[in-house]
Amino acid sequence: MGRIVQANEAGLDFWELWAKIKRGFMTPLPNFIGGQWLPSRGDSTVDVHNPAKGIVIAHTPLSTGADVDAAVRAAAGAFPEWSETPPVVRARAMFRFRELLNEHAEEIARLVTTEHGKTLDEARGSVRRGIECVEVACGAPSMLMGYGLENVAADLDCQVMRQPLGVCAAIAPFNFPAMVPLWFLPFAVACGNTFVLKPSEQVPLSMQRIFELLEKCDIPPGVVNLVHGGQAVSEAICDHPGIRAVSFVGSTQVARLVYQRATAAGKRVQALGGAKNFIVVMPDADLDRAIPNITESFYGCAGERCLAGSVLLPVGAAHGPARDRLVEAARSLRVGDGLEPGVQMGPVISARHRDRVQSYVSLGLTEGATLALDGRTRTLPPDGFFVGPTVFDRVSPETRIGREEIFGPVATVCPVRDLDEAFRIMDAHPNANATSIFTPSGRAAREFAHRATASMVGVNVGVAAPMAYFPFGGARDSFFGDLKVHGRDAFAFYTDQKVTMSRWQ
Ligand code: NAD
Repeated sequence: MGRIVQANEAGLDFWELWAKIKRGFMTPLPNFIGGQWLPSRGDSTVDVHNPAKGIVIAHTPLSTGADVDAAVRAAAGAFPEWSETPPVVRARAMFRFRELLNEHAEEIARLVTTEHGKTLDEARGSVRRGIECVEVACGAPSMLMGYGLENVAADLDCQVMRQPLGVCAAIAPFNFPAMVPLWFLPFAVACGNTFVLKPSEQVPLSMQRIFELLEKCDIPPGVVNLVHGGQAVSEAICDHPGIRAVSFVGSTQVARLVYQRATAAGKRVQALGGAKNFIVVMPDADLDRAIPNITESFYGCAGERCLAGSVLLPVGAAHGPARDRLVEAARSLRVGDGLEPGVQMGPVISARHRDRVQSYVSLGLTEGATLALDGRTRTLPPDGFFVGPTVFDRVSPETRIGREEIFGPVATVCPVRDLDEAFRIMDAHPNANATSIFTPSGRAAREFAHRATASMVGVNVGVAAPMAYFPFGGARDSFFGDLKVHGRDAFAFYTDQKVTMSRWQ
């Protein structure tokens, strides 16, 4: 167990925030099952840190299969009534949820920064994106409409209806504590399903608070359930016969496991995995516009974003200027506690992850890359899990730093002769989440968008994150499944289609 935090150590803002929160501080957080806050049946916990200060701020219980079973029973019990509730009444609960999220958006953003480390502006943006998911889910009554045709044969009418599935579950990663769970919960619930969420054990607090808001939304007990924990909870979710559908977001390795395990148990699954995102800079790119975008892509959220730029592919003469400008921009980033005004990059999530990211810096040197900006020489805040922005140049795409997801503020620059060579590198990589090109040429941009195998493409946009009303998700080893996250796909994922043929003669 880590050191127990004292109020004055945590800082006033932080303490004031927590004073408003009734439950959970320093004791193992309770689960929310069947409309009640219940202690976990697990007998161990994981420390939750404020990564900017390096101190323990809460404990996540490692719940058990019995907790998952209790949550699924509660959700199954609530399903008949909730699924029969008129869609517009379910949408009304989501409208109320949206109002409460708006009212508490700043508080939730501060919680996100406190438990995750991203800057307050980044946290605010992520909470806004989460709220947009709720707003889109409010459209469920229209989005759930079926279609039909009369006289498909003599006196025979045919009608297609969308019906909810039953109990659905989601397993979330650490990097977007509030937003990623909101990719799923509002859509599942608005469609008439009941729901079990497992947040990341590293960042449980934002969802703890959001579930306190859900309690005030006129949603019957059992419709939404929260089970804290780690691998054992995920596995129990994959295996539980009472769960119809599982959404997962996390690393490729675990996404693949969850997909295989949950589909083997007969469930509908969407599993979003890791990424290695390539950004192409053409020789004609306007670097004054491109570099701020690219810097934000590589170093925003300290590189802990599945859409973060990871490899810069400057084409031909773009190499020298793009690398030099990126180094200059990365060097000038203000690194610190994301709650402090003016800070542009926060810490990474944990001491373990910091050490992992730093190990890639040593690895890059042994692999023969050139360190164009050495983040290790930078003076960083003494406490907390900080990594200085780093740039590697002349990285070979076959090396580990050129291929593996580092998930930290380390950019790798890999110069290429032309767009064809850029495509050869991108197409050879197992991940295909997002990619971007910077160019004023419509021809190059069109070719890029057409040929890219990644599913989220940016043209003069460094982080091509689709809005809540578009599908979100990658390809190849970045996505296992069929229907993607939010947008129209969400309504399809959370419903079955039923076809009724009627003859009344
Ligand atoms: P992770 O895979 O370690 O954990 C994700 C979730 O799975 C957590 O809730 C964790 O408790 C659980 N888990 C961990 N090990 C498990 C196991 N063996 N079996 C079952 N469940 C297990 O991922 P993370 O470190 O929390 O998140 C970072 C990763 O998520 C990065 O790879 C990032 O690219 C990816 N990510 C992808 C997207 C996307 O849209 N594709 C979005 C956000 C994050």
